[in-house]
Amino acid sequence: MESSAVHAATIRLTHPISSSRPFLSHPFKPSNLNLNLNLKLQHKFPLASHNPSLLQPLSATLSDAHSETENVELADLDWDNLGFGLQTTDYMYVMKCPHGAEGVFSKGELKRFGNIELNPSAGVLNYGQGLFEGLKAYRKHDGNILLFRPQENALRMRMGAERMCMPSPAVEQFVEAVKETVLANKRWVPPPGKGSLYIRPLLMGSGPVLGLAPAPEYTFLIYASPVGNYFKEGLAPINLIVENELHRATPGGTGGVKTIGNYTAVLKAQSAAKARGYSDVLYLDCVHKKYLEEVSSCNIFVVKGNVISTPAVKGTILPGITRKSIIDVGRSQGFQVEERLVSVDELLDADEVFCTGTAVVVSPVGSVTYLGDRVSYRDGVGAVSQQLHTALTRLQMGLAEDEMNWTVELR
Ligand SMILES: *Cc1c(COP(=O)(O)O)cnc(C)c1O
Repeated sequence: MESSAVHAATIRLTHPISSSRPFLSHPFKPSNLNLNLNLKLQHKFPLASHNPSLLQPLSATLSDAHSETENVELADLDWDNLGFGLQTTDYMYVMKCPHGAEGVFSKGELKRFGNIELNPSAGVLNYGQGLFEGLKAYRKHDGNILLFRPQENALRMRMGAERMCMPSPAVEQFVEAVKETVLANKRWVPPPGKGSLYIRPLLMGSGPVLGLAPAPEYTFLIYASPVGNYFKEGLAPINLIVENELHRATPGGTGGVKTIGNYTAVLKAQSAAKARGYSDVLYLDCVHKKYLEEVSSCNIFVVKGNVISTPAVKGTILPGITRKSIIDVGRSQGFQVEERLVSVDELLDADEVFCTGTAVVVSPVGSVTYLGDRVSYRDGVGAVSQQLHTALTRLQMGLAEDEMNWTVELR
């Protein structure tokens, strides 16, 4: 693929997004599969470079392109109605580890967002050797951009990579790549209060293997999409169904890492739940079918009086960064926060229940259904969920003093 390797800071000046040339077309190479990763999305959302209306804000500023003061430009989007659909942005970041056994990632580069080529025998395609991460960037009122604990994502990717027999970028490499990606796609970071730029790092075995083995080559890639609320309910409480048959994770398995295979495995239960009007599925431990684990892509908390409890992470539960942050925020606000086994009986008897995750932030749960019985918590959003949601998002958006030093500011 033709790439435009550019420096984040100079993108606006040297690469106006005015090319009418579709950068997604590749020279045909018989040995390579042109993996159409965003097939559906190309139909749903016009790509930036294909949509003349997106050119306006940029070309309008070309005349004063040399001025030092960079006024905030925004892509032409309906910022008031962002959901969690993919809206592709201008650039992606790509970095390779050509020799998996050596584990060294070469210097990465920004490329125009587009399809990637993979050998049909790539480890990720054949054996699911892949991991993902997810984090968000918020735009502050002063125009600067805040990342939330990106080093934690870097560390988690390293832990996951170890489990999946992959080399992974160093923490500094990861964080630097995230920063470059966000700056290159700056005009896609929503205005304050309208949402965030969701950043999706991937790590995959991109080299060819036939017999089961780790791939010889690895690719680290980051793309980004502006997003609003994750659940269609918006900020309204979600309705969960407790799954009693299918399980998300097993002891000794990979439930504790963000490996790609964990997510298709939950689609069946999730689709069935959605078809019946539920927002998502809550999984139980597979040994006793009695203790809470988590939802398909977020962690769970139950509130009883002044005590907030969440299942301890012991390999079958994904150690969420939002979870970890809410534990600290809850304690700093005077709650007693416990990480332990939490039974389904406690769930049904709770005052409030909420979910946490980068995508869902803090989502209040309105009801849970277990073995056909529905328990509703209360009308509206529970007070504790509300309080923690406010405290966390104020930190993430730069509206509250960052005493823990969790945010990373990009100027
Ligand atoms: C990503 C994820 C979470 C939430 O993790 P955060 O770091 O808070 O975004 C929880 N559970 C699962 C299964 C996940 O994949």
